[in-house]
Amino acid sequence: MNYVWRKEWIKAYETPWSIFEKLAFSNRVERNDILRFFGGNDVKKIKNPNIGDSRRELIQLSGFNTDLLNNVLNFDLIGNCQQSINSLIEPFKNFHEPLDQWFPKVLHWCPACLSKGYHSWFHQFILIKNCPFHGTVLHDCCPKCGGHIPFLLSDKGLSYPFTCVCGYSLSSSICSEWKVVWGEPVGDIQDSTVKALVSRAARTNSQSQWLFMLQHMTINLIAEECQHRAFVRSVENKESEQWGDSKRLQLEFNHRNKEVFKAVERFIRKKMLKNHRHCINALQCLLKAEGEDFPPICPYAYAYVFWRTTVLKSKNFYSIPWGDDIDEKNGIATQIISDKLSYLRSRFWSHTSGEYRTHNTRLIQLYWIMDKITAKFCFNFFRQWLHQAGKGVSDVKVPSWQHIDKMVDSSFPLMAFKYSIVPSDNNLIECYCMPETTKNIRYECPFLTKASIQALREMKSHSPQAVAMKIYDNPNEQNKELQRNVEKYVRNLMT
Ligand SMILES: [Zn+2]
Ligand SMILES: [Zn+2]
Ligand SMILES: [Zn+2]
Repeated sequence: MNYVWRKEWIKAYETPWSIFEKLAFSNRVERNDILRFFGGNDVKKIKNPNIGDSRRELIQLSGFNTDLLNNVLNFDLIGNCQQSINSLIEPFKNFHEPLDQWFPKVLHWCPACLSKGYHSWFHQFILIKNCPFHGTVLHDCCPKCGGHIPFLLSDKGLSYPFTCVCGYSLSSSICSEWKVVWGEPVGDIQDSTVKALVSRAARTNSQSQWLFMLQHMTINLIAEECQHRAFVRSVENKESEQWGDSKRLQLEFNHRNKEVFKAVERFIRKKMLKNHRHCINALQCLLKAEGEDFPPICPYAYAYVFWRTTVLKSKNFYSIPWGDDIDEKNGIATQIISDKLSYLRSRFWSHTSGEYRTHNTRLIQLYWIMDKITAKFCFNFFRQWLHQAGKGVSDVKVPSWQHIDKMVDSSFPLMAFKYSIVPSDNNLIECYCMPETTKNIRYECPFLTKASIQALREMKSHSPQAVAMKIYDNPNEQNKELQRNVEKYVRNLMT
């Protein structure tokens, strides 16, 4: 088979995805034909028309024949991909994550670059959110139909080359000029962090390691201006802590987590919402005047009450027992991020497990990391609930868990921790985070006047328990009707 191909159509850091799209376009061949032509022996043996995704993957090109690719493209595609990938993940090699965690399964692209037929490993790298050449936010779904395109040599999600199944063209280069456009250089990298990363200036020396969550991290955090340094000095303890996930350690983590949550909660109640104490009380106790509808909900009370309920994953938002309702024996308080915190903890332990030293220092560092992330998350998540509150109080409803999960994702702090692994200097740990850019939202509180506060004081609790007691005392139709109304009201506010 003779392919129309020019070596200059391949650019530095280009992924096989756009190379194959160009090949399909310039030769008017199907993607499956390309796969069958370049496929390794395993692929060639497959008679079945359906070839599985594992043979279509573009990270290691394990389904492809190296020599055939070299000969036709006149380029060592597999070797070059390996090099590009390694230069991006080199500073984070202590992570030992599978490659498809660093390069997601869904295509991420820059429309300006794709219009020159170029899709880059930079675009596909999970820590890069903006095109390093154009600065634009990368796409991960079709702007027209919202569909995802798998990062595979596959027809899934695509019709013609560079074209979504819905017909949307991902590349405006599909014009008469394509031969010229594909040959043009891509230009210089504008993003200084990415530039430094590939020129190896930002490569962490082997004296330190990173800890972060891949999906809550951007490469720009490494830039100097984001750096917020903090030093942790531990007192060397004669008695070394038991390393590993022992019961005692778990309890200590639970305890610290609860303390952090309570500190944030105190701050929110005492500083941020000090004028809304009675509003919060009205919602938590389901206060209502006899024979009337429930009063309007104060947006600040809404934000606080549902923030608290969802962080703790409590069953009920109402009738919270006074005093201590967080059981630290059974887990961490901030249940909603429990998986993420466990992940980070296990990573930190496995990153530092081979060290010869007392683990006390590492333990104190880990406590510090967990405290910092938990506090920041709690504040961010409260802000998300404040955003939600306007709509929430007018609909008298809480959002679905699907929506809440999105709020959790956008509240999880973008933070990276860098710590030294030099035996003589193991106390230093640095936290990298983005500067704050949040605006405060203002709402009208419905209980601003003395008269409205007085009216609240005269209302009674209509929690499901209180209403059940009423029926117990007097099971008339009016009370049963009341019970139905209260249940309906509460149901809309249950997460
Ligand atoms: Zn671009
Ligand atoms: Zn589409
Ligand atoms: Zn209020």
